[in-house]
Amino acid sequence: MRFNDTLKNIKTYEAGKPIELVVREFGIDAKDVVKLASNENPNGCSPYVAKAIAKSANKASLYPDDSMYELKDALSSKFSVTRENIIIGAGSDQVLEFISRALLMPNDSVLMSRVTFAMYEIYAKQMGAKIIRTPSYQHRVDEFIEEYNRHKPKIVYICTPNNPTGDATSKEDVLKIINAISEDTLVVVDGAYMEYASSKDKKYSITPNDLIEFENVIYLGTFSKAYGLGGMRIGYGIANTTLINELYKMRPPFNITTLSLLAGIQACKHEEFVEESITLHREEIKRYEAFAQELGFDYIDSYTNFITYLFDETINSTDISDKLLKEGVIIRNLASYGMNGVRITIGTKEQNDRLFSVLRRVLP
Ligand code: PMP
Repeated sequence: MRFNDTLKNIKTYEAGKPIELVVREFGIDAKDVVKLASNENPNGCSPYVAKAIAKSANKASLYPDDSMYELKDALSSKFSVTRENIIIGAGSDQVLEFISRALLMPNDSVLMSRVTFAMYEIYAKQMGAKIIRTPSYQHRVDEFIEEYNRHKPKIVYICTPNNPTGDATSKEDVLKIINAISEDTLVVVDGAYMEYASSKDKKYSITPNDLIEFENVIYLGTFSKAYGLGGMRIGYGIANTTLINELYKMRPPFNITTLSLLAGIQACKHEEFVEESITLHREEIKRYEAFAQELGFDYIDSYTNFITYLFDETINSTDISDKLLKEGVIIRNLASYGMNGVRITIGTKEQNDRLFSVLRRVLP
């Protein structure tokens, strides 16, 4: 069988390892497995959301409201935009896919930082586009402008805060990049972890409303991280109506589930959950910083719900990740991103205690 030629140079996305795999491969009891690999919210989701999902289980037989009126209404009030400025996806991942399919043709190029969210590359390559990366893992304004001028890419991805590094780009710098780019290039500002950055330092806080005046910019957000709804797959894109109308042509009907829709609506009514979990998170991430300092390795100052530890040549990130896995602690090895480091999602106090004790034991 002959597959589409574009598939030849695409590597399958490697998601964080599931708990079930560790149970199967290492015979560890599921309750003893700690998963700190997929940047999920360790506090679950708002109890109001959980209750609403349970109460509505029998609605699983019904297709959702395909207009997603109520969820768009909630998001439009939250962000002071109109419903027509919003497109909802099965995770912001699906919105990224719509963007790629709506814009890219073979031999177009896309620009992103050296180390960033892997799906930008995968979706772009599916369309036959070429990947251009800046030299640094950080989003440096001068590097973005230089590479933009050299390659004139069709899409520029700004991931702030950035996954898997955890650093963020200030609003001022994001606007500098946007202002240097002409209107026939789309700028995607991916704010999957924005709630954490906004609460840490206002300089890094970007809202869709800050960007909506730009015809060629789309802001992406998600319920998967701070809202604790990764399993429900709800994300959104916010931009001017012309852009949203074009993206809508890519959208399959009923692209999020009836229960996901309901969960998103309830989550917007109980925003206090986000604040509470960020407060808990703030205490725990300090312990990760202190742990790195105590053991003498570097970390990247994090604006997200995870922290990236960077090792020198005496520590091998693959070796450490494998040893932790055998002990039932799942973290993310960054070797495939060309970094000798690991990304660890900040868990509950108990999960973090376990990580510290196992990591202390397996470090050389
Ligand atoms: N953007 C970034 C930067 C991410 O890290 C992720 C998930 N890991 C996504 C988008 C997609 O998230 P979701 O599809 O769950 O909304």
